[in-house]
Amino acid sequence: MYTFVSQKRFTFRENVDLRDRPRPKTGQKQAIRFRPMEAKNNWMKARIAPAEIEKYLRADGTDFVDDAEILRLLAPAGEPEAAQVREIVAKAQAVQALSQAELATLMRVRDPELWAEMRAAAGAIKRKVYDNRIVTFAPLYLSSKCVNDCAYCGLRRSNPAVERRVLTMDEVRAETEALAGQLGHKRLIVVYGEHPESDVDYIAESIRTVYSVKVQTRKGIGQIRRVNVNAAPLRVDELKILHGCGLGTFQVFQETYDRRAYARLHPAGTIKSDFRWRLTAMHRAQEAGIDDNGIGALYGLSDWRFELLGQQAHALEMERFCGIGPHTLSFPRLEPAVNTPFLENPEWRVSDDDFERIVTLARLAVPYAGLIVTARESPEMRRRLLPLGVTQMDAASNVGVGAYADGQEKQKGERQQFILGDPRGLDECIREWAAAGCITSFCTAGYRCGRTGKCIMDLLRSGAEGKFCKLNAILTFKEWLDDFATPETQAVGEALLQKELDEVRRTQPKIWPAFSANVARIVAGERDLYF
Ligand code: SF4
Repeated sequence: MYTFVSQKRFTFRENVDLRDRPRPKTGQKQAIRFRPMEAKNNWMKARIAPAEIEKYLRADGTDFVDDAEILRLLAPAGEPEAAQVREIVAKAQAVQALSQAELATLMRVRDPELWAEMRAAAGAIKRKVYDNRIVTFAPLYLSSKCVNDCAYCGLRRSNPAVERRVLTMDEVRAETEALAGQLGHKRLIVVYGEHPESDVDYIAESIRTVYSVKVQTRKGIGQIRRVNVNAAPLRVDELKILHGCGLGTFQVFQETYDRRAYARLHPAGTIKSDFRWRLTAMHRAQEAGIDDNGIGALYGLSDWRFELLGQQAHALEMERFCGIGPHTLSFPRLEPAVNTPFLENPEWRVSDDDFERIVTLARLAVPYAGLIVTARESPEMRRRLLPLGVTQMDAASNVGVGAYADGQEKQKGERQQFILGDPRGLDECIREWAAAGCITSFCTAGYRCGRTGKCIMDLLRSGAEGKFCKLNAILTFKEWLDDFATPETQAVGEALLQKELDEVRRTQPKIWPAFSANVARIVAGERDLYF
């Protein structure tokens, strides 16, 4: 017997091969899905395509995470010479990626004065490449069903304490309306569990749904203009479907680059237990034409130094494979989750001081990449990290499935993967960042103007991207101030905006007439103007 659940939600009941089910045409709504249990198992078995792993391995069958070499680099050694450290830092300041040996050398620095120099250099690199902008976004969790059983995750399949949902397209629309119409977000990272009910068709349909939403705001129209996706590894043919939907950045986090820890934390027999299927996710994304990609590790699962060298090896591999490094690096740190004993006393918990080192070292090692520090971290920690080279921070985040639209209180453990450290609203965050001299950017122009992949990498390295980004940051900041800011934030924001406008008038006189005309159009209520 099949069980139909209205609004496209189904339960598993019987033995039907899902591959035989009719697929909806692009843009057509799915009316009914049958999800029998055996089909779920078949679906799981078919997820991993061995040929789409092997082709990315080296001739000797190894992958790019060289455990022996990383352990050799991490072997105890003395404090490096100051001259050597300064030479490596100078290379980073020239926006050149560091080698694994160079990063390992910086990790050995203990001298507080040298660390102060490294922190200052990290901030200077950020300003050189990204200026004073902070790009903001919100996470949008669309499903809490997952076939995997990762020991550290509240959504793991064996956790009975979590409510399971996959949002219908009507619910996706409602979430988007709240994010774009009430909070004022323009870019999202949309997150999915790995499950047949949130397969690639569902991901594609939800991306299209998010882009379709337009909401009247105080003076204009609110809409999401960039949908980034954080999902399980996909096949090349599936990734091509998402590319065709206007996907922004595609993120897959390795969780841990330490394959011994990986094997312990991801039970055998789950899709997630295949270390290399995950490790090669970005190769497949590149092959599918997706050239904005984000990588990350979940810090706290193994020695942070191993993880950072693994993450850097990943960035170097992406450059080697297709000439395009990661668009962003993420550093989620373990946070509590409901009914998740692993998180009570993890062996490799990362201290705040070490976390500060991680962000500083990442900025130096991969100087062109965007660095994301999310609301997993407390407000105090985010304040501490901001001057070290962070480029993106979320705000007003709610990681409960369906929680933006239904006005649920934040931090309802049984609805979410983990507990947030910074539950503040967007208005408060923007006011704080503006007071610190940082302009919040909602810019989504890059990928719509073809400034992605190698193009954006070259522009970032040369500092040229900053010119476009500054203009678009100002335009989108003004939109947000007019549509959503409280009077208090408007006052702080307008003061910063005036400084930014003066700077553009002074430093980019040729573009000023066209730019100031666009500012006037924004003030008059037009939206989504960009360079
Ligand atoms: S970490 Fe991701 S794959 Fe693992 S159980 Fe959680 S949602 Fe599923």
